[in-house]
Amino acid sequence: MIRRKGTIWNKSLSGRRRKENRHNVNLHLVCWNVKTFFLGVRIWWISRLLFHMKNMEKKNYIPNIPEIDKQRIVIVGSGFAGLKLVRGLLGKNFQIVLLDKNNFHQFQPLLYQVATAGLEPSAISFPLRKILQKEKNIHFRIADVKEVNAEDKEIETDVGYLKYDYLVLAMGASTNFFGQENIERSALSMKSAADAILIRNTILENFELALLQESADKAAQYLNIILVGGGPTGVELAGALAEMKKYIFPKDYPELDLSKMRIVLYQSSGSILPGMTSTASGRATKYLKQLGVEVILNTRVLDYDGGCMKLSDGSTISSKTVIWAAGVEANHIGGLSVETQGPKGRILVDRQNRIKGYDDIFAIGDLCLMETPKYSKGHPQVAQVAIQQAKNLSGNLKRIQQGDTPGLRIYEYKDKGSLATIGRNLAVADLPFVKLRGFLAWMLWSFVHLFMIVGVKNRILIFMNWSWNYFTYDQSLRLLIRHKPSIVKRSKQELFCETEPLEVHPEVNMEHK
Ligand SMILES: Cc1cc2nc3c(=O)[nH]c(=O)nc-3n(C[C@H](O)[C@H](O)[C@H](O)COP(=O)(O)OP(=O)(O)OC[C@H]3O[C@@H](n4cnc5c(N)ncnc54)[C@H](O)[C@@H]3O)c2cc1C
Repeated sequence: MIRRKGTIWNKSLSGRRRKENRHNVNLHLVCWNVKTFFLGVRIWWISRLLFHMKNMEKKNYIPNIPEIDKQRIVIVGSGFAGLKLVRGLLGKNFQIVLLDKNNFHQFQPLLYQVATAGLEPSAISFPLRKILQKEKNIHFRIADVKEVNAEDKEIETDVGYLKYDYLVLAMGASTNFFGQENIERSALSMKSAADAILIRNTILENFELALLQESADKAAQYLNIILVGGGPTGVELAGALAEMKKYIFPKDYPELDLSKMRIVLYQSSGSILPGMTSTASGRATKYLKQLGVEVILNTRVLDYDGGCMKLSDGSTISSKTVIWAAGVEANHIGGLSVETQGPKGRILVDRQNRIKGYDDIFAIGDLCLMETPKYSKGHPQVAQVAIQQAKNLSGNLKRIQQGDTPGLRIYEYKDKGSLATIGRNLAVADLPFVKLRGFLAWMLWSFVHLFMIVGVKNRILIFMNWSWNYFTYDQSLRLLIRHKPSIVKRSKQELFCETEPLEVHPEVNMEHK
């Protein structure tokens, strides 16, 4: 007999009960497990549903872009590359959506003339809607593209999401300060029309401030202009500023002692215009020195606080105007794998401009880096490469559409030569078969730039401006235009009011009667 918790059990009976009990416990456990499992599944499913609903709520797609029976190519960026691609695909059997932060195309090679009061920004910009006016199946939106979601074939922008069949990134590059925050905060750069106008305003403002200084030495820091970087941008700006010092400033500011004004160009390597031949570089240095620019080689800028610049040779120079033109880095877009990231943020692409690891996403122009036997570190970031890659890609996209994938062409850079202008009648040109210097190179430079600019009106405007400046030795655009800060601040807040329909004001209608 076994006594357990006040119960007398028969041994054989208790054995059977124990077995039954164990069986029951096991059954309970299984049931409990199954129940818990299904409860878990239900919770997971509901949370997924809620998450999805929340996402659906959040995901607002860019409206008014119809879903049609054509494949959609989304092109981000309307610079040299993006615009050429759009033009190559017009009238073909695609729906094209072009996105850009601005509503205009900008001709960057002439920005330095805007910065030095030679041209108005409108002369080197072209409204995108005008280019696309008569075209069907093309949509343009002002949008800042943030991220790619390759899995769902969509992109995220500041104005909503957008689906694509093919995505082409042509977002170009921005100024690279190489992580030097002080310099980034205090120096000017030149990548957009807004930057160029800021340079123009800063120079003119500093000249006005120079007039208010009591001593010539104090005034000098407002007059000095320092350019960092001896590439085409630094060289062209330095030359144009030297001409202003020679022809314009003495007439505009006769009270200033301009002999104290210094225009200094710093270059970290041993020669300027590193992409050109050594003779072109030598000649450009000579021209700059002729114009009174101090060209200082093998010297790096270590720091700049808005007033004083420290240099690697231990020297310092005081200036309120520093223009940083020492390098670029590719514009960033999120969502792409780390394997696609090349040096200076450039996106690695194959010979057909397809981003490595993605079948339907391409990158062209300054943004991408394509390694070829001839250009093992990628192509130079110049307009010709951007234009040619866009042309090759538009052909390839048409071939893909026709199912002709074996016919896809690889890109090979056809270098048509390099040009840089230093000033009136002074330029250097390295062409494949001939090297030109001086007046001939300058004529060629002018012709090429006039030819490349978009829009007949812009060409005429620029030609007239250049002719006027050439014959009068005068730039007429030295206006110091300032915005009203309070308006900018207020426009950032969302200020709204109801617009009442006219008919609710009978007195208005009465008056008209
Ligand atoms: C001052 C200066 C002078 C130059 N001079 C010469 C020269 O003489 N010869 C020469 O061959 N090259 C010159 N270049 C270089 C030439 O301009 C570039 O190589 C060329 O512009 C590259 O074309 P791209 O289409 O790749 O980029 P870009 O022309 O820079 O166009 C990029 C476009 O993408 C848009 N964008 C960027 N980010 C976003 C985003 N997140 N969302 C939406 N849109 C975005 C921009 O608004 C822009 O419209 C110069 C450049 C500068 C800055």
